Amino acid sequence: MKITSIRAYQIDLPLHEGSYKWSGGNSVSVFDTTVVEVVTDESISGWGEICPLGPAYLPAYAAGARAGIAELAPRLIGADPLALGVLNEQMDSAMRGHPYVKSAIDMACWDILGKASGQPIATLMGGHVGADFALYRAISQDTPARMAKRIGEYRKEGYRKFQLKVGGDPDVDIERIRAAAKVLTRGDVLIADANTGWTQHEAIRVADAVRDVDVYIEQPCMTYEQCLAVRRHTNRPFVLDEVVDGIDMVVRGIADQAMDVVNLKISKVGGLTRARQIRDLCVSLGIAMTIEDTWGGDITTAAIAHLAHSTPERFLFSSTDFNSYVTVAFADGAPQRAKGRLAASRAPGLGVKPKMKVLGQPVLVVPQPTKSRR
Ligand code: MG
Repeated sequence: MKITSIRAYQIDLPLHEGSYKWSGGNSVSVFDTTVVEVVTDESISGWGEICPLGPAYLPAYAAGARAGIAELAPRLIGADPLALGVLNEQMDSAMRGHPYVKSAIDMACWDILGKASGQPIATLMGGHVGADFALYRAISQDTPARMAKRIGEYRKEGYRKFQLKVGGDPDVDIERIRAAAKVLTRGDVLIADANTGWTQHEAIRVADAVRDVDVYIEQPCMTYEQCLAVRRHTNRPFVLDEVVDGIDMVVRGIADQAMDVVNLKISKVGGLTRARQIRDLCVSLGIAMTIEDTWGGDITTAAIAHLAHSTPERFLFSSTDFNSYVTVAFADGAPQRAKGRLAASRAPGLGVKPKMKVLGQPVLVVPQPTKSRR
């Protein structure tokens, strides 16, 4: 099988709640997502999606994803989409770094592999574990009282894991964590995700102030070394996210006992191929994971579901259903949340069928169609 064309589509994804706010005064109200179609010579197309969390979260931004795909795609025409290891080597030799650019292409090729073999991606990644898996709900940064109130609302929707967006003023963050902890019921899980927002001394102050609270601390500071210093100080369970951008950082973190849980985002590490490699390493070494992506819609949510659903339950700390946060649905067959849980499709590949009317005209077609002569 050969790749004959790569196309990209751009879609705006507004949020049901108006905006999403996290550390450093960052917020997004409309996500800019890119859907990638990889076309082959055997009448199979695969679909992928890349949606950065705005330009200030990771070294990634939406227009950059499209520029990178435009740069990379011509080098992949003629490649075998089923040979995912070879394809990833080709992408890495054609473009250094920029894992998020490669993610949607890799995802689309997994979709092709699933369709060509008649198997859902979850089967190719080890098999569906149980009927479904648990999701967390991110709670946009707000006043302590409003964030605590959200927990009750989201619990009614079935969620039991709540991720507070902190990483702001440490005194307010301590209040946010304490207010949220007060409304927890038995079985709820609380995570305080600072998204790199605290300096080291601020993080240690907050960690000390919540020593008696049943809460996980996620990515308190910008660098690995700062996070490690906080980790060695706190008695709370600890999650690393933004700094874990590849398998080397997972190996380093495990050697240093730098975290109890890794937040594994598909596009942060370059696609499903690399994410599965990290997932399997974490399972072998006993490190639990939140399996998700930076953001996205129906296709990203489907890809997350296949990786998460094929992960042993005790190592799947939580996962995300981004398509329920946004107002635009653009693919049939995408997984839909039920009682705070999600399940990967049993159909071949990702199990999604994009709605071409919502996708509209492609913003990128490689190779460009030749103009007919008059
Ligand atoms: Mg995080």
